[in-house]
Amino acid sequence: MLRKLCVNCYEHTPVEIVVIPTKEMVQDEEIVYDAKHYKCSQCGEIIPNNELGNENFKLMYRKYREKKSMLQPEDINYIRKKIYGISIRLLAQLIGCSPATLSRYENGALQSKQHDNQLKMLRDPRNMKTLFESNMDEIPEGKDKQELRERLGFLLDILKSADILKGFDDKLNLIEIQPVDSWNEVSVEEVERFFIIKGQEIEENENLKVSPLKLQKLMYYAQGWTIAYTDHNLFNAQFEAWQHGPVIPDVYQKYKTYGYSRITNDFNVNIEELNLTQDQFRIVEWVWDKYSKYEAKFLEDLTHMEYPWRITRGDLPSDANCNWIIENEYIKKFFTSMSNTLKLLQKV
Ligand SMILES: [Zn+2]
Repeated sequence: MLRKLCVNCYEHTPVEIVVIPTKEMVQDEEIVYDAKHYKCSQCGEIIPNNELGNENFKLMYRKYREKKSMLQPEDINYIRKKIYGISIRLLAQLIGCSPATLSRYENGALQSKQHDNQLKMLRDPRNMKTLFESNMDEIPEGKDKQELRERLGFLLDILKSADILKGFDDKLNLIEIQPVDSWNEVSVEEVERFFIIKGQEIEENENLKVSPLKLQKLMYYAQGWTIAYTDHNLFNAQFEAWQHGPVIPDVYQKYKTYGYSRITNDFNVNIEELNLTQDQFRIVEWVWDKYSKYEAKFLEDLTHMEYPWRITRGDLPSDANCNWIIENEYIKKFFTSMSNTLKLLQKV
């Protein structure tokens, strides 16, 4: 059992940790938070203690930030490490503070309003790019600078895709999927059928028909977004980086006789009868909602612009034949980053 020096008993006595609701002024704001204290289990005296004092400050600042919609320490760390992959030193230089100050922020100290605003702005890679470029000459060449340059390129690509996804909406409504331990991949065929049946519903617009080309793109985005939302594959199949975008060869073989025409539903199944879980349905519905409004050719161009297809093909001319597999890790990196970046941009 933990022992501390009790000022009442004049000895090291066993203590327990108790929570005491406490009011405190932080700058201009009254904050109520649950302070932790040691309590002597012999006499009941509350014992002052530095280590808990520190923790209490952190709790108090956490409440304050919450109330003022400021970034929490883990948000700052996330921006620096997860989004941009840079050192404390470089981020500190960019926002004009000492590395020690930034390090304290990440450890729970209360950041200044000005630094908070700056860091919030930097969640948007477009702002980071501007700041980076205007400080370019003062930043020493090295791993840090190179990493930031590469990440910015990647993130700005993501934002182009995200803008297209958003269409005319101000926000892109991502769906919430609760994490699950067991996740059954579905057959490729179930997902094909979902999009083909959906395609029958837009009969009036011939440009938006689900042709083999469009089906491949919808399958690709369904797989990518399922990984982003759940960290699991929707189905077990690999995409190859063909000239016209990502393709599952078996799916190509199966429907190629349709050429550029609409694939018709001759399998007599209703959408409700498909073997998809509720979450899988929600994701493919969402993908349908976001991507089906574009023509197949447009979606092809979109995949060409995006990282997984581009990185797989490297320097190959865009019209070259190619059957290289798009590694799942590229798909994961791209779609997960897109989803994280969008979430972050929408936060606060
Ligand atoms: Zn005591």
